[in-house]
Amino acid sequence: MANHYRTKAVVLSKKNVKEADQLFSLFSEDFGKISVLGRGIRKITSKLRSGIDTFYFSEVEFIQGKEIKTLTDTVALDKFHGSDRISEATEAIVSGQEKDRRVWDLLMESLGQGCSSEIACHFYFWNLLSISGYGFNLGDCLKCGRKLPEDNNTFSFGGGGIFCSCSEGDIKISANAIKLLRIILRKDWKTLARLSCPKTLFSELDSLSWKVQETLIRQHSM
Ligand SMILES: [Zn+2]
Repeated sequence: MANHYRTKAVVLSKKNVKEADQLFSLFSEDFGKISVLGRGIRKITSKLRSGIDTFYFSEVEFIQGKEIKTLTDTVALDKFHGSDRISEATEAIVSGQEKDRRVWDLLMESLGQGCSSEIACHFYFWNLLSISGYGFNLGDCLKCGRKLPEDNNTFSFGGGGIFCSCSEGDIKISANAIKLLRIILRKDWKTLARLSCPKTLFSELDSLSWKVQETLIRQHSM
């Protein structure tokens, strides 16, 4: 008889396969990043469907076949405000299937605070980089060591931090973005909870995070 495995997991994404199946990408407490197939889960009568969906915090049970894991039970524990960005960052930055307590704790911390999905995403992304060995120095100017002024700062991917006008990095970064990143990396939830950030600040951080991620992927594949 096949072994049954049971673990808590966050559902990062799902996609439809075949007539009535769905393939879920999970980050699990005990096995790290895994894919599990929900057979017949899109049928109204499926018992699995109420316990699993995108950004559910679920308890799942599966059997390990030769090539795929197949869901046998699901229990919904909570529903988080997440977004595709969290799945994409996990795909890009976390390597194969492996239990990883730090990523699990970070995922729980990012999503479990009930903050907006923007805050949760950026909290996760920047701290994930940090625990994956891609930390950035957001203190003083990387080159001259002076305190960063309000304007004319640039972010340097290669340098791993920020330049003032004494040197030129890869992309402009505003003073507010630097402040928000510092709060995020300090894991200062008290401040994060009462921040109201303009949309433009999140768009700035979004494009910065995409560029950082692309740069990392390029470095990995070289
Ligand atoms: Zn400088």
